[in-house]
Amino acid sequence: MTKVPIAVAYGDGIGPEIMSACLHILTEAGAQIEPHVIEIGEKIYLQGHTAGITPEAIETLRQTRVFYKAPITTPQGGGFKSLNVTTRKLFNLFANVRPCVSYHPFIETKHPGLDVVIVRENEEDLYAGIEHRQTPEVYQVLKLITRPGTERIIRYAFEYARAYNRKKVTCMTKDNIMKLTDGLFHKIFDEIGAEYPEIEKEHWIIDIGTAKLADTPQQFDVVVTLNLYGDILSDMVAQIAGSVGLAGSANIGPNMAMFEAIHGSAPRRAGQNLANPSGLLHAGILMLVHIGQPEVAERVHNAWLRTIEEGYHTYDIYREGISREKVGTKEFAQAVARNLGKQPEHFKPVRYTQEGGPAKVIAIPSYERINRPQKELIGVDVFVEWLPGKPQELAERIQAALPPSMKLTMISNRGTAVWPNTVEETFLTDHWRTRLMSKSGTPITHEDVITALQAYRQAGLDFIKTEHLCRFDGEDGFSKGQGE
Ligand code: NAD
Repeated sequence: MTKVPIAVAYGDGIGPEIMSACLHILTEAGAQIEPHVIEIGEKIYLQGHTAGITPEAIETLRQTRVFYKAPITTPQGGGFKSLNVTTRKLFNLFANVRPCVSYHPFIETKHPGLDVVIVRENEEDLYAGIEHRQTPEVYQVLKLITRPGTERIIRYAFEYARAYNRKKVTCMTKDNIMKLTDGLFHKIFDEIGAEYPEIEKEHWIIDIGTAKLADTPQQFDVVVTLNLYGDILSDMVAQIAGSVGLAGSANIGPNMAMFEAIHGSAPRRAGQNLANPSGLLHAGILMLVHIGQPEVAERVHNAWLRTIEEGYHTYDIYREGISREKVGTKEFAQAVARNLGKQPEHFKPVRYTQEGGPAKVIAIPSYERINRPQKELIGVDVFVEWLPGKPQELAERIQAALPPSMKLTMISNRGTAVWPNTVEETFLTDHWRTRLMSKSGTPITHEDVITALQAYRQAGLDFIKTEHLCRFDGEDGFSKGQGE
């Protein structure tokens, strides 16, 4: 078998120790890999590369298309961009897959039997990083949810469930509040879910869903959710499984994949042969399956389970009375290497091969653009900065200036409608949304929007942004004000 080139980064802090330990195990297990070492992280940030990675390293990633990454330290202070977010976006790594399992009775947990895979959308949502300070009092971040991005992650979750014989996929959103964005995610979950009749489907509102998942994780199987919710959920589930030191994650894109532990560089533990390499090893196992070496993945995983059963534990999972010996990073890796070829006795052996054949490859069809709906511009939200005053006063200033084709229908402050109906108690900031609609009900033009803005300028109103109000095939593409 020819060796598969992979980019390897040793990272910062405990990174180099755990990466050496993992590469030792993978090589001993017979992994056919050819590591190409790249430098990323703290040193590179401090050389002035704001994302912690050099153009040469990016080129190596483009060529190898597989990235095995140890944790890095992000220097304190402003101006540094997250290396992970940069890599995910540069290489379109849309799916973040994090299997979390508890290892009772060998690793302490309140949840024996926890076995949950979090599939998190990895590129969209609030992580687009589009933020603005709009007024002295108000800051904004844009939450972007797209149909292509959502279809892809939902389909990935169902295909993953099918490939790994998972019985249920749970979707979590907050669509009772964010009806358009989270609503789209939920709607596409229902649409695509219908193509997988053999898989049980359910939807939870993220708040109660998180509570349920923390309380009875045994009731969950695969969970698919949006980027921010998934970020929080996946750390929570890894922690309640036993330790954040144990889980690995895969960041998957159409042309590239990145594999890493979920924990950070733990600088206080660095250089002492203390750290647990298990999270990075689990990431390595996911990588082996991805590059078509599932039988090696199986050997490594089963040897690791056997080592945990035997009680060779690093300090973070060591428990008097349960563990046999507290071992360092290197000794742990040696114990796993010794167990290669052995099966666990307490835990069920892991199988990545299907009836002796290769693991199923999860292929997502490329996005097919839907027929573009008919779009009509029927109004505009003009946001203005205005020192807190009476909504009626603002309304009168706008109404006096507006061109005859437009009417003011609503003013809101922090999303709550405060005009035409005003509740005295509502707290007001300096950031107002004023909703203008076409008077006749017929579509308006960009010219009308510009005329309206000129009217605001003449009225001395500081407009800070506009949002067009459109109908798509007759359906409103905007939300109402709270209380409107
Ligand atoms: P951390 O995950 O490094 O450490 C949190 C706690 O877990 C510490 O007590 C640490 O000792 C322990 N721990 C973590 N990994 C361990 C392991 N393998 N074995 C034993 N104990 C382990 O989180 P942090 O302290 O918040 O962050 C430290 C640095 O890591 C920061 O610079 C942060 O930006 C970075 N970080 C990087 C990544 C990444 O590269 N993917 C992820 C998270 C944090």
